[in-house]
Amino acid sequence: MAVREVIRMGDPHLRQPAEPYPVDRIGSAEFDTLIEDMRETLHAYGGIGLAAPQIDVPFRIAVIEIEQTETRYGTLEQSPFDVYVNPVITPIAAGEAGYWEGCLSVPGMMGYVERPQHIRVDYLDRHGNAKSTEAHGFLATVFQHEFDHLDGVLYVDRIKDRSLFAFEDEYLQFHAGE
Ligand code: ZN
Repeated sequence: MAVREVIRMGDPHLRQPAEPYPVDRIGSAEFDTLIEDMRETLHAYGGIGLAAPQIDVPFRIAVIEIEQTETRYGTLEQSPFDVYVNPVITPIAAGEAGYWEGCLSVPGMMGYVERPQHIRVDYLDRHGNAKSTEAHGFLATVFQHEFDHLDGVLYVDRIKDRSLFAFEDEYLQFHAGE
């Protein structure tokens, strides 16, 4: 197991749609190593989510773990480490919400993005079981941000007001708490 390198914006691999992960390979040694590497990489980089394409693995897998309650995003609800294989998002209620987002593939930057804030996520867990969960508010944004990576989309693509794209220091100085 190892910390993998997170590739950054400008690497064309971040822009390629990822392939569905073969269901019959869930639980294989290769799969388990990938998941553990993603967990170690997430921790080493200090993120809350990581998609496989960010470590140059072109499959539809993401991990999310929100364990701190105080982060650069403010106070967050916890979401224990979980693995999302071949996830599908469905908005379940009207309403968008905007949050400042950051990305391990766009280090040092933050941007304000509006997204649906009530969603359902259908996915396979790390044992291959079909699961469904609902997410609201910031957690809904985290899911959408991570799963966008599986389609080659970065949050910067979704910033409508480019005056709300900032370096992290300037975000903290001028925008945090707005
Ligand atoms: Zn990201």
